[in-house]
Amino acid sequence: MRPAAPAKVQPHVLIVEDEPAQREVLRYSLQAEGFRTTVAADGEAALLSAAEDTPDVIVLDWMLPHVSGPEICRRLRRSPGTQKTAIIMLSARAEESDKIQGLETGADDYMVKPYSLPELIARIRSQLRRIRPAAVLDQLTHGDLRMDLEQRRVFSNEREIPLGPTEFRLLEALIERPGRVLSRDQLLDRVWGKDQYLGARTVDVHIARLRKALSQTDAPAPIRTVRGAGYALR
Ligand code: CA
Repeated sequence: MRPAAPAKVQPHVLIVEDEPAQREVLRYSLQAEGFRTTVAADGEAALLSAAEDTPDVIVLDWMLPHVSGPEICRRLRRSPGTQKTAIIMLSARAEESDKIQGLETGADDYMVKPYSLPELIARIRSQLRRIRPAAVLDQLTHGDLRMDLEQRRVFSNEREIPLGPTEFRLLEALIERPGRVLSRDQLLDRVWGKDQYLGARTVDVHIARLRKALSQTDAPAPIRTVRGAGYALR
């Protein structure tokens, strides 16, 4: 019997735009595309929001009241929580020098207003393929392991490994970044959500269950414990 399938990971986009009408159009369009959205009308609100609920992608307007988009971008890059968050800068200025400046501030991509919404959505997806493959792909593979993200099933050499929903999400978080160490806190945020106040021990218990399930395959044990740091996929 298969465990009930939890919903596919919903990518989270923070929209930073001071024009209410433009902000609303973005929010509506991105939600219609299946993204979870939060909005901020200025840079300070954006920094607070990003610290509270780290987005996968930030769509950042260049011209904002008080603190400019490029300055917000620099501050986001200095903060450990948003160092790796994808930032797409929107600007009304079309000069090439601005484009270069936009990328020098640490933005990953840059679009000139008026921009096409389908193109913006395509660029958000392209950033997500890089940083959160599970959010945009139908399956993830690593060695003999294959995760079907639509059906929430895992296979090793095409033999199914039954996993509970929590173990599935744990494996998904690890397989997205093979080799990279994820701390117990990062795993708690990713798998259980920011609002859950659970201890690191919870992670260890579910990692043990995941290892046990994976040990029933011929493949070598793929999860490595990194002392004092967390877990990584070999
Ligand atoms: Ca603006």
